[in-house]
Amino acid sequence: MVERRLTGMIAAAAVLIVLFIFWDAVRPTRRPVDAAADGPMRIAEPPPIPAPPPQATSPAQGATPTTTSQGTAVPAGPNGREPSYMELMARSETRRRIRSSGSTTYIGEMLEASGDSMLRRWDNRQTSPIRVWFAPPHAANFQPTFVEAIKQAFEQWTSAGVPVRFDFNADSSNAEVTVKWRIQFEIERTGQTDVTWDDNGHIQGAVITLATFDPKGRPMEPEDIRVVATHEVGHLLGLDHSKDSTDIMFPTAKVRDLSDRDVRTVLFLYQLTPGSLR
Ligand SMILES: [Zn+2]
Repeated sequence: MVERRLTGMIAAAAVLIVLFIFWDAVRPTRRPVDAAADGPMRIAEPPPIPAPPPQATSPAQGATPTTTSQGTAVPAGPNGREPSYMELMARSETRRRIRSSGSTTYIGEMLEASGDSMLRRWDNRQTSPIRVWFAPPHAANFQPTFVEAIKQAFEQWTSAGVPVRFDFNADSSNAEVTVKWRIQFEIERTGQTDVTWDDNGHIQGAVITLATFDPKGRPMEPEDIRVVATHEVGHLLGLDHSKDSTDIMFPTAKVRDLSDRDVRTVLFLYQLTPGSLR
């Protein structure tokens, strides 16, 4: 009896041992699996996560987004629309005409220096003159003859054949061009012209500011005013600077009247369609 009970207990123990071994083999061993998941698996996983879309790493879209927007992109046309094929062809033809004009004008220089490749000019204003207003002078050393000198400056350009006329009897409410005065500029300058234009390069208005004293504090004479105003009216008409000191549109005018090249440049500008050339 005792033997049978002993045998039964041994058998039960053997079953328990087998069960224990079996359980040990199949139980969910959390720690080792977790360790595997937190360890090597995470290191092996990363590639898909940071792997960026191919275009995000292409050189063209690196850290300098402005190069892609300025480089070959065709700017939006008037009112934000894209230029039509015909407009692009017309721009190409205008660029060709400018290139073939060579150094007989400085339009090419103007465009190179401009940064926006925009031709700016007034519409043909021969029948409806551009309205000019002379702001009341409050600056010291102002002389009434200055106004006459400025009118002569305008006259130089119109008599050269620019297809615009000026009406000097405008008032502040309807003027397109304002001529105003200051005693002196803080920098090396005796005149300044601020021009506004629309998306199509059509000039809408301008403000010419003239100093009554030069940067060294010497009072300006009527003849000085005429020369400075001649240069500023060139800006008002849409011209930028020439690199040639024999042109009135040289940044610091060395000559006192229009050169042949000034005249050719402004007449050429008024034959071209204004607007972007990109
Ligand atoms: Zn200038």
